[in-house]
Amino acid sequence: MWTAYYLKRRDPGLRIAMVEAEFAGFGASGRNGGWCSALLPMGFAAMAATHGRDGAIRMQQAMNATVDEVGAAAAREGIDCHFAKGGTFRAARNPAHIGRLQAEVAEYRAHGFGEDDVRWVDRDEARQIIAATHLEGGMFTPHCAAIHPGRLVRGLADVVEASGVQIFERSRVTAIEPNRITTEHGSARAAHVVRATEGFTPTLPGLRRQIVPIYSLMIATEPLPAAFWEEVGWTHRQTFSDARRLVIYGQRTADDRIAFGGRGAPYHFRSAVKPEYDRNPRVHSDIRATLVEIFPQLADAAITHEWGGPVGVPRDWYCSVGLDPATGIGWAGGYVGDGVATTNLAGRTLCDLITGTASELTDLPWVGHRSRRWEPEPLRWLGINAMVRLPVGADAYENRHGRPERWRSKILSSILGH
Ligand SMILES: Cc1cc2nc3c(=O)[nH]c(=O)nc-3n(C[C@H](O)[C@H](O)[C@H](O)COP(=O)(O)OP(=O)(O)OC[C@H]3O[C@@H](n4cnc5c(N)ncnc54)[C@H](O)[C@@H]3O)c2cc1C
Repeated sequence: MWTAYYLKRRDPGLRIAMVEAEFAGFGASGRNGGWCSALLPMGFAAMAATHGRDGAIRMQQAMNATVDEVGAAAAREGIDCHFAKGGTFRAARNPAHIGRLQAEVAEYRAHGFGEDDVRWVDRDEARQIIAATHLEGGMFTPHCAAIHPGRLVRGLADVVEASGVQIFERSRVTAIEPNRITTEHGSARAAHVVRATEGFTPTLPGLRRQIVPIYSLMIATEPLPAAFWEEVGWTHRQTFSDARRLVIYGQRTADDRIAFGGRGAPYHFRSAVKPEYDRNPRVHSDIRATLVEIFPQLADAAITHEWGGPVGVPRDWYCSVGLDPATGIGWAGGYVGDGVATTNLAGRTLCDLITGTASELTDLPWVGHRSRRWEPEPLRWLGINAMVRLPVGADAYENRHGRPERWRSKILSSILGH
């Protein structure tokens, strides 16, 4: 959708169609945690390996700027997506977390990012930001906004449609070939075809091992009373997580709920994606327990919503965008859980690639990057499900002993590349 948006801005005369299996916004973009962040799934080292330290720095700078661009585009187009750039606060809640976050701050420093980009905050200041339990300090970066994802994606669909882009909903694509797509209802030819199917990619022919769908699940509380917010702070709608190994993420919504999510859901054999996987009672109950452990005041708060969806994970955890000039086929994805802002950067980059405009965007490390394919089954199922549970054991160890867990973390770092 961002690709269509920027192409139409560049050249209103272009004929563009969007073909969607369900409805615009059905995918992860309509139901994520609303962190419009500058985070990337791959680390500085992975980017520097192919594009040098300078390339890695440029990529991070481009992401920092993209957070603002999403806000600017929403404002420009009158999309009321509750954009609030309060930054993100990652809490250190045991001594192992302190070491991990301070090392991360040091890595940003080593790449030339200053206190204005990312900084360590001590325990007293951390309490002022978000008074979670067991606070020892934390890491703060201003490069993140909280948004309402459904409002952003539906608003954007309205904007691109009004600009003349045709949106074909309930039209599942069954094949993508050079300059051509086939759907359940017919086919279409185009000079360029952009595949932006993220966690659903393995359902397309020939792409089963390209991207793995890993489920991320979420809950939302009822709107919380003023007394809770007075006690906890959280005054600027900062997005929130802590430094545990299992990914968790939260935001204070514009209507004073906490929308809170986490990983830990099982991977399904042969990369299956089904609506019933969006809900998993065990994982939803674990997410709620985690939230209450961080904010015990919420023990009796009603959980009004539970949902989830697939994120798209490439084999090397390295997202990419590109266009094959020989076939006219472009792609964007592999964002893991960091796609809200990254899709915007991808859209602007594809706009440049499709219009043949060499720019600072088309020169970034992720452009044209190809990840190798995932292993065939049953290896994939065995490996991923073992990996999904590793962080849980690592976190339990760190909570119990207060020092970094080694062997599981080593395996995770070797898989994640950071
Ligand atoms: C629960 C959850 C929480 C998340 N939280 C965050 C967060 O806080 N911050 C962040 O940055 N990222 C987050 N993410 C990840 C982020 O939402 C995604 O990376 C991003 O939305 C991907 O956008 P996309 O447009 O590439 O794919 P999607 O939004 O998934 O869209 C893909 C679309 O393709 C359609 N499609 C699939 N196959 C076909 C086909 N054969 N034919 C036609 N159409 C097809 C689907 O129906 C879908 O609408 C989260 C994801 C989930 C699931």
